Amino acid sequence: MLNSAPMAKINTHYEKLKAGYLFPEIARRVREFSSLRPDAKIIRLGIGDVVLPLPKSTREAMKKAVDEMAEASTFRGYGPEQGYDFLREAIALHDFGARGVKIHADEIFISDGSKCDSGNIQEIFDGASRIAVTDPVYPVYVDTNVMAGRSGEVDSSGRYAGIVYMPSTAENGFSPALPQEKVDLIYLCSPNNPTGTVMTHEELKRWVDYARAQDAVIFFDAAYHAFINNPELPHSIYEVEGAREVAVEFRSFSKNAGFTGIRCAFTVVPKELTALNRSGGRSSIHALWNRRHCTKFNGVSYPVQRAAEAVYSAEGQREVAEMIRYYMENARIIREGLAALGLKVYGGVDAPYVWVKTPQGLGSWEFFDLLLKEAHVVGTPGAGFGPSGEGYFRLSSFGFRENIEEALHRVKSRLSGAALR
Ligand SMILES: *Cc1c(COP(=O)(O)O)cnc(C)c1O
Repeated sequence: MLNSAPMAKINTHYEKLKAGYLFPEIARRVREFSSLRPDAKIIRLGIGDVVLPLPKSTREAMKKAVDEMAEASTFRGYGPEQGYDFLREAIALHDFGARGVKIHADEIFISDGSKCDSGNIQEIFDGASRIAVTDPVYPVYVDTNVMAGRSGEVDSSGRYAGIVYMPSTAENGFSPALPQEKVDLIYLCSPNNPTGTVMTHEELKRWVDYARAQDAVIFFDAAYHAFINNPELPHSIYEVEGAREVAVEFRSFSKNAGFTGIRCAFTVVPKELTALNRSGGRSSIHALWNRRHCTKFNGVSYPVQRAAEAVYSAEGQREVAEMIRYYMENARIIREGLAALGLKVYGGVDAPYVWVKTPQGLGSWEFFDLLLKEAHVVGTPGAGFGPSGEGYFRLSSFGFRENIEEALHRVKSRLSGAALR
C-alpha cells in the first residue's frame, strides 16, 4: 500500500546543478553595455562556433543524397544505428589508418554530436564511479555526471563534492598531475578547450599507463585534432600503445568541416576495452555502447552521412585544410598581437583557442569588462570553465578575418600601456 500520495518528482540530482551561468552572464553584460553605448560595434570572440560556410564538396554530396531520397529505387529509410559502412570505413581509413593506427570500421559509432556522446558515455558505467576532470574543463563532462548522481553539492568555488578536479594552469604547463586518489573515469580533451594546449605523446602515454595500472577508463575528446600543426603531436589516443584496452575517443565534424549546424560526429570504442561487471568478470564496453546506441538512437540522416563522407574526398580534404588554415591564421594574429602588448598567451598554435593570462592580476570578469568597455570585444572569462580558469581569458579564432584584425587593432590602440603592464 502506498503511504504517500503519488506525485511526480524530479530527479533531485538536477537540483544540484549550478545555474547555467557563463553564457547568460556574458549576454547580460553585453546587453547592458550596448544599451549604454548603442553606437559601439561589438566584436564577439567568445563563442566556440565556426563562421565559414559549408565546404562545396559536402554540400554537393548532401544534395545528391537528397535527390536519391526522391526516387523509390534509391530512397532510404532507417539506416544502421551505428552509421553507414561507407562513412565508418572512410573514417577508419583516413583518420586512423593513414596515421598507422588500427581502428576497425565496426569500432566506430556515428552520431549527431560529440557533446551528446561525451555526455552519454558515463551512463554505461557504475553510478558510484569516481570521475576525474581537468580544471578548467568543457562543462559537459561534469554536468552529465552530476545529473547522473555521481557528485554531491557544489561549493562556493564551483566544485562539486566527490568529483576529482585536476588543476591545469601555466604553473604545470597545463598538464595536470596524476590524481592522488583512486579514480575510475578520466576525461581528457586535446587539443584542449579552453586552454588551447595539446598533449604530447609522452603526456598521453603517462595517462594511458596510469589507466592501465589503475583499471580506469579514459574518455579522450579529440574534437579539435584537425587544428594540430606540429607533426610530432598525437591526433588520437590510440597512437599510444596500450590505449585500445583503456580508452574511448570522441571526434566530430563540427569544428574541422564546419558541421556545427549539420550535426555529425563519432565515437571510437575498441573491442579490447572492458570493465568489471557484477559477477567479477569483465564486460565489453563496445557491446554495451552498441546496446545503448541502438536503444536510444536511430542513426544520423543519410544526406548528412554522405556529406561527412565527402570530407574525406580529395576535394573535401583540400577545402577543410583551407578553412583550418584560415582559422589558424586568425589564431596567429590574436596570439602574436596580444603577446606584442606584453600579455602572456598560451595555445593558438595547434588549437583554435588562445588562452590569455589576465594582466595585473585582474580577475577573469574584470578583464572581460575592460575589454568590452575599452575595445568593444567580447571573449570568455576563464573562470567560467572552472575555478582554475580564474585569471585567464579565452579568445576564439572562429571569426571573420576582418573582425579579428579590427579587434586586435582596437585592443592595441585603446588598451596598450598602463592597463596591460
Ligand atoms: C565543439 C566541441 C565538441 C563538438 O561537439 P559537437 O556536439 O560534435 O558539435 C566536442 N568537445 C568539445 C570540447 C568541443 O568544444
